[in-house]
Amino acid sequence: MSKFWSDAIRNLEPYVPGEQPKQGGITKLNTNENPFPPSPAVNQVLHDFQVDRLRLYPDPDCSRLKQSLADHFALNVDQVFVGNGSDEVLAHTFMAFFRQPLPLLMPQFTYSFYQVYCDLYGIDARLMPLGDGFSIDLDTYPTENGGVIFANPNAPTSRALTLAEIEPLLKRNTESVVVVDEAYVDFGAESAVSLINQYPNLLVIQTFSKSRSLAGMRVGYALGHPELIAGLERVKNSFNSYPLDMLAIETAVAALEDTAYFETTTQQIIDTREWTIEQLNQLGFESLPSKTNFLFTQHRSEPAADLMQFLRSQNILVRYFSKPGIDNYLRITIGTQVEMQLLVEALKKHPALA
Ligand SMILES: *Cc1c(COP(=O)(O)O)cnc(C)c1O
Repeated sequence: MSKFWSDAIRNLEPYVPGEQPKQGGITKLNTNENPFPPSPAVNQVLHDFQVDRLRLYPDPDCSRLKQSLADHFALNVDQVFVGNGSDEVLAHTFMAFFRQPLPLLMPQFTYSFYQVYCDLYGIDARLMPLGDGFSIDLDTYPTENGGVIFANPNAPTSRALTLAEIEPLLKRNTESVVVVDEAYVDFGAESAVSLINQYPNLLVIQTFSKSRSLAGMRVGYALGHPELIAGLERVKNSFNSYPLDMLAIETAVAALEDTAYFETTTQQIIDTREWTIEQLNQLGFESLPSKTNFLFTQHRSEPAADLMQFLRSQNILVRYFSKPGIDNYLRITIGTQVEMQLLVEALKKHPALA
């Protein structure tokens, strides 16, 4: 606490990202990064890049990337917004649409950054209870709200809603913006992008960090009605004219265009995920059905916090949230097949699991 801090930041509880270890030799299954390198096309862009161009500012409109995204999703360019990671896109979204007199609705357990943005921007959040197995029931969300946000698939629970479960909410909730955060959608869930032209209040947010292996480049985007995109542009242009640097713009385009590589690597992660669920099951774990590149799992006898520490002693990092309601679960990122074998072998060394 410092006397120089403004009242606005005094009571903030900032988001705590997963650890990025400085030393090598660690199997990192704690931040849902992709275990595969970016597409070889990204390598080529970096290799060919003319360094002298860096003295110029990048394109403030990121036109090339927006056009690629528009083509990819069969939308118009004015239906696409890009930002410095989807976290920044989310921040602008909260600023642009959710600072309303009525509360923002979100699931009780979801991406914890949402609550942080609510606190930062003075937005009242209403946490909606989850059902059995952390299921989300959008039918219980009242239409008296200042907005709705949820991740689909949800984090950290890994569960996905179908479009048939999402569309009824859009049909009746017409007076506020509904945001679907699809950070993990490429690992097996249905995307709401196909509904954008029918629902002018639907905003879908995606990222290059997970399925495109570009977490280090910080590229995220939002897709929706041109009026929503214009709202986001107003915030962006009141904050930072150049949120994406040249390398981010160009590598993202290259990654997006390499469909074959994207399909092979995401399918590999899906296959490894199903293998890992089965292996963990044999060791006494129960995992929620996952449509993501991670598992949300608990052991039938061993406390999650102890298992997290045990794995750490074996140089394997997984994520643990000490939050009532989810504090007996581990969130384990799906790595390569070899990394997941290391995880299983390490767990077998635990006295209670052998
Ligand atoms: C990882 C993640 C993000 C943030 O992704 P960036 O694009 O890297 O900022 C947003 N939402 C959810 C649910 C995530 O898991």
